[in-house]
Amino acid sequence: MKIRTRYAPSPTGKMHVGNLRSALYEFLIAKHEGGDFMLRIEDTDQERFVEGATEIIYRTLEKTGLVHDEGPDKDGGYGPYVQSQRMKTGIYMKYAKELIDKGEAYYCFCDKGRLASLKTEVVEGKEITVYDKHCLHLSKEEVEANLAAGKPFVIRQNNPTEGSTTFHDELYGDITVENAELDDMILIKSDGYPTYNFANVVDDHTMNITHVVRGNEYLSSSPKYERLYQAFGWQTPVYVHLPLITDESHKKLAKRSGHSSFEDLLEQGFVTEAVVNYIALLGWSPEDNREIFTLEELIREFDYHRISKSPAVFDIVKLRWMNGEYIKAMDFDRFYEMAEPCLKKVLTRDLDLKKIAGMVKTRIEVFPDIEGHVDFFQELPDYDTAMYTHKKMKTDSASSLQVLQDILPLLEAQEDYSNDGLYQTLANYVEEKGVKNGYVMWPVRTAVSGKQMTPAGATEIMEVLGKEESLRRIRIGIEKLQNA
Ligand code: GLU
Repeated sequence: MKIRTRYAPSPTGKMHVGNLRSALYEFLIAKHEGGDFMLRIEDTDQERFVEGATEIIYRTLEKTGLVHDEGPDKDGGYGPYVQSQRMKTGIYMKYAKELIDKGEAYYCFCDKGRLASLKTEVVEGKEITVYDKHCLHLSKEEVEANLAAGKPFVIRQNNPTEGSTTFHDELYGDITVENAELDDMILIKSDGYPTYNFANVVDDHTMNITHVVRGNEYLSSSPKYERLYQAFGWQTPVYVHLPLITDESHKKLAKRSGHSSFEDLLEQGFVTEAVVNYIALLGWSPEDNREIFTLEELIREFDYHRISKSPAVFDIVKLRWMNGEYIKAMDFDRFYEMAEPCLKKVLTRDLDLKKIAGMVKTRIEVFPDIEGHVDFFQELPDYDTAMYTHKKMKTDSASSLQVLQDILPLLEAQEDYSNDGLYQTLANYVEEKGVKNGYVMWPVRTAVSGKQMTPAGATEIMEVLGKEESLRRIRIGIEKLQNA
């Protein structure tokens, strides 16, 4: 049988890292086996619908390379692919009525007042009303009279009060619950829309889905899905419920972390491929300890049996490291395109930005790191002369002053301000004085950058700064050292 997986997001806002992981795993399971990956938009919860959220879904799938074979924009013969449109075909009502005919579901006309008087239970922090099957006992005539009178209704699942139901998950194994614990959940709401729970089952079946991957917040409702499959006599797909993604303090990765969505991560200077790579490892690991994977490599290596049940900790430090690896490996043109806005943010003078970009490529983890590395090109910081003292280079204020005073006239006379030309001049001086390289380079680099750490050496920095600015900085250095 051909593997068919689906990503079934609800358009409720940004693309949470957990959603992207579900999409990625669904994609990988399908592609690993040469199957089809489908996109289905689950928009039956009209209250949670957010304008623009569907566009975010498309954009993210496109950007990450999780290309769907079927979806609202690509008909594969299983459409419509948007639940609100499927509803208009009457599909959910048809199946709900089939369950009513089988005695597996029933109309419920209870009003808010009556429901409010029922017992409530707290399930996963949410208060839910345990329905008492009141309307199950209405006679056929009563039901028909209510329907004819246009009384608002919902359709509920009729779960048995005895026996138990076993549900199988690939990671969690068999989960058995007493049927008495299963609430008669609503299948069709009073607005005529199916609930997520019902639409999901109907759609996964009618769209021939073989594998379902989703967050384990759905695990506790799964026995109720299982009952629906049984009631219809349908084959249950393979279910893979994924472990929760937590932050470093083991709490659910929340918006306030600032990096819970794909958009947030891109805004913070992360590279799409690095994010996808990192997310693949949030719960899954290959047999060896390999960590860097292209999407193609993930398709080849991904085996969902190797997904772990333990919570996946979103480690931003690790993602930063991984992102740095991607930046190092990136071709220069793409790198420059992404680096340019960060460079321009701090560098408004006439400088060779490409050259500066080349200096930082291997030194950053995320693009905004660039600013702190290159800001001195814009303006010489007000540094402390203590920086001239370096034990290993055997430099101090006096030696540095001497060096700067000696080389100033040489650099004033020099016309060739290329890195090579400048290096030659300083190397000649080093040789003439019989000192170590660092003895000269350290004070010069300090003077032209005003920083302890720079992304390049003294002469490369001077090449970018140009003659006038380099000399101005060296003179400032001399003055500072004289006044120290
Ligand atoms: N619409 C559900 C969600 O976005 C889908 C869950 C599922 O994949 O079954 O959470």
